[in-house]
Amino acid sequence: MKFISTRDSKVKVSGAEAVVKGLSDEGGLFVPESFPTVSPEEIAAMADMEYPRISEFVVGKYLPELKDKLGEYTDKAYARFDGEPVPVVKLDENTFVMELWHGPTHAFKDVALTLLPHLLVGSKSVLGANEKTLILVATSGDTGKAALEGFAGVDGTDVIVFYPSEGVSNLQKLQMMTQRGDNVFVTGITGNFDDAQNAVKAIFTDETAKAKIKEYGYEFSSANSINFGRLVPQIAYYFSTYAAMLGGGEIKYGDKVNFCVPSGNFGDILAGYYAKRMGLPVGKLICASNCNNVLTDFIETGVYDKVREFHKTTSPSMDILISSNLERLLLELCNRDCERVAGYMAALKETGKYTISEAELEKLQADFYGAFAGEDEVKATIAECFDESGYIMDTHTAVAMAVLEKYREETEDDTPCVVLSTASPYKFVNSVLDAIGEKTEDDELKALKSLEKATALPLPESLSCLPAMEKRFTSVIDKADSLKTVYEYIERKSR
Ligand SMILES: *Cc1c(COP(=O)(O)O)cnc(C)c1O
Repeated sequence: MKFISTRDSKVKVSGAEAVVKGLSDEGGLFVPESFPTVSPEEIAAMADMEYPRISEFVVGKYLPELKDKLGEYTDKAYARFDGEPVPVVKLDENTFVMELWHGPTHAFKDVALTLLPHLLVGSKSVLGANEKTLILVATSGDTGKAALEGFAGVDGTDVIVFYPSEGVSNLQKLQMMTQRGDNVFVTGITGNFDDAQNAVKAIFTDETAKAKIKEYGYEFSSANSINFGRLVPQIAYYFSTYAAMLGGGEIKYGDKVNFCVPSGNFGDILAGYYAKRMGLPVGKLICASNCNNVLTDFIETGVYDKVREFHKTTSPSMDILISSNLERLLLELCNRDCERVAGYMAALKETGKYTISEAELEKLQADFYGAFAGEDEVKATIAECFDESGYIMDTHTAVAMAVLEKYREETEDDTPCVVLSTASPYKFVNSVLDAIGEKTEDDELKALKSLEKATALPLPESLSCLPAMEKRFTSVIDKADSLKTVYEYIERKSR
């Protein structure tokens, strides 16, 4: 399986290279040359398979060069989860919740970031690459911690995380500031997630920076969903969920299932699109946004316009105006015309905006529906669901739940729908307390305990221990100083 760049059809690399590099030299994203297919029989057989086996199977379709090792990798990665890695909860006759937050950091990023370090180490070994890997992460809160946990202590890798200093929840901040390990560094950055992501992407394409870190024996890579190795583990849970519904008798083979995905950088929902292209009977992919509704407008009108007010919301992991992974979908919409995608991306950079053609919009709308939920709706949805069924959800999941309601009202489509639940309610504890009418608490531990008391959900020890831990990383830098921070880290490490 070869990979091409979204912006240059002449680029062609192996899967191992795509994982190690993270981003193509000219700034494009790696995508598979074609979509591998999965047969109906293979999907049906997954109903009896454990999650690591399903993941091994799906990832192996894209990274066959790692096939011998994948079983070991997926076993190790998903052993770090608490019980069933991706359980599916039935809320009512045709509404299901896919819980993606039973990993070490309690957000869905764990599903990919517990596996990515193994994929990276394996890929380097296949390529015979001796350089150390310096992973730069821009995070809206959850990727940072999950990458730190995934890569801490992994030989031959170092991780530097940039988070928007005022754009993450207190608990997310605590998780990152207290991270252990000798190969990690974390800093706040002034600005929002888009600023952090732009800073990191600029470093990746900076030839001087690349040459400089090479002198120290390093190469850059990415743990953000711009890295295909981050995306591919996410495809597996669409299959596992469909198979679980088959196994549970909720659907018959061939029945379509819709998925409603709380979206920011568009990686999670794109993984669902890839699953569909591989043969999974997916109906509509419902793209749920918060007030930063740039994706809603795009799916409705075909105009992507990031020039708009940026809102800080109670679902900070979705406070994003530049959704990087949309670039991979654009390539499919315009029949793999890389020059066209490069043109759109240039326009986005220069004017903050691009408009796709009528035909492309039609294709987009055939697979996707988009809507957004405002802050009041999010709050009301958490409260309503908790009152009615005792099910407690976090703010990001609530965005999706609220959007699903709108979708059903507007379309009267009663196809079974799976809502992707992307974080534990404990990660956004004060917003959740507030929504269910409990007092919020400035003291994080008090807040966690209060939510535990109000709900039946067990409080994970890895969160309740945070307030007592030493804060190792407390710096905040100007976004213009991100490259300097990278150099300083490397120089420190090389002393
Ligand atoms: C990252 C994240 C999202 C958005 O996922 P994308 O792949 O960026 O679209 C949604 N919810 C939570 C809790 C997240 O951490």
